[in-house]
Amino acid sequence: MKLTIVERTKLLGLLPQEGNILTLKILRKLRESLSFSEAELKTFNTTHEYMCPYRGEEDNTLVICDNKGFFLEQPTCCRHNIPMLQTGQMNLMIPPEALKNEKEIHMGTQAFAIASAPLKALNEANPPKLTDDLVSLYDKFFPPEEKEE
Ligand SMILES: [Zn+2]
Repeated sequence: MKLTIVERTKLLGLLPQEGNILTLKILRKLRESLSFSEAELKTFNTTHEYMCPYRGEEDNTLVICDNKGFFLEQPTCCRHNIPMLQTGQMNLMIPPEALKNEKEIHMGTQAFAIASAPLKALNEANPPKLTDDLVSLYDKFFPPEEKEE
C-alpha cells in the first residue's frame, strides 16, 4: 500500500499501544516502516523553539523577557544580547515536494487487520467519529466501490 507522509503520520497515531505478543511484534515492524527514515529526516528542516532566559528587576518589578520563537540554530536575544535557550518544543518542516511522495508500506494480512481496525472502528462508531483528514487513509484501506450509474 502506498502512503504519503501525512497518511503515515496519521496511521502511526491510530495504531494501538497494546495487544498480545504477536500483535506487538507486528506493530513494531509496522511502526518501523511508517516512521521517517534517516534519509527522509535529512530532507526536513527541524526548528526548535528558543526563549530568552532573561529575568531581571527593574523598579522593584520582576521583568521576564518574552522574546521567543522557532529557529534553526540557537539565536541571541536582540534585547539582552544573551543566547536564547531551547524550550523543548520543536517543529518539523517538511518541504512541499516531499508531502506528495508515497512510500510503499508492506503489510501482511495480520498487519492489515491491525492497522485498519482503528479506522473501521471510527467509521462504525455510533455516532461515527471518522474525520475529514482521515478520508484518504480510509480509502486506501477500504477502496470505495465503483458505482455503476
Ligand atoms: Zn531577552
